Amino acid sequence: MPELPEVETMRRGIAAIAGSTIAAAVRLPCRRRPILIRPRPAMLARRLVGRTVAEVGRLGKRVVLRLDSGDHLVFEPRMTGLVLVADPPSVEHLRFRLDLAGGPIPSIWYWDRRGLGSVRLISDRQLAEQLGNGKLGPDALELSANELRARFANSRRAIKVALLDQRAVAGIGNLYASEILHLACVHPAKRCDLLSDRQWHAIHCCMLKVLNEAIRHEGSTLSDGTYRNALNQSGGYQSLHRVYDRAGQMCRQCQSTPIVRIVQAQRATFYCPLCQRKRSKGKSAST
Ligand SMILES: [Zn+2]
Repeated sequence: MPELPEVETMRRGIAAIAGSTIAAAVRLPCRRRPILIRPRPAMLARRLVGRTVAEVGRLGKRVVLRLDSGDHLVFEPRMTGLVLVADPPSVEHLRFRLDLAGGPIPSIWYWDRRGLGSVRLISDRQLAEQLGNGKLGPDALELSANELRARFANSRRAIKVALLDQRAVAGIGNLYASEILHLACVHPAKRCDLLSDRQWHAIHCCMLKVLNEAIRHEGSTLSDGTYRNALNQSGGYQSLHRVYDRAGQMCRQCQSTPIVRIVQAQRATFYCPLCQRKRSKGKSAST
């Protein structure tokens, strides 16, 4: 968290700054663990002030402002970061502010409770090196079913673990991986190379469905309350979670089996043992 739907919601929340000019870039005094800001504040301000925001984009789980200088300002929220236009959840965790002129939004803030996120200004070349092909896969919303399959079909990894690999497909994290596989009726520990055509098709279709629906509901705000949209409001998708953080509760699909929690690659996975059966070798894998 935040994953593609939450970061896309942040992006949409500040999209109106496209066309605005940057009047100031300020690292805010914060007594908490400092976030990574690059380059250092004086150099950062020099390269930002007077520049126009050409485009408000997203790369995987990052909000990226493309500037008329060709530079890119990358906000990476990691665990607890937020990009806001108003009303921060707390003042003491505000880290960075961009003042803007000539548009409807006077300032945007970067807020981060745990401080694991970053704000970095990088050139076109650095963007290609750090977040280009080979480093970051195609966006989960822009990948075809065939491309998805081609990226994973020879892998012996469990599908749930593979979906978290940002070099293969960008944007899916721990929460939505469980949600997608439940909707697709695929067992999270099923090896990629053993999935059928039909299962790949289901995973692709459910990936788009879950992510787009979560964007429509402005993401998921979990019980810790950290994630907020750009106006400091909760997301709404958490009430629609099928399996995530529902261990022991009844599956909403079959209405007969409690959701189970397992650990895969040190991360919690939630699934329904009835709806997501792992067929034994030799039987049909077209669940
Ligand atoms: Zn079920």
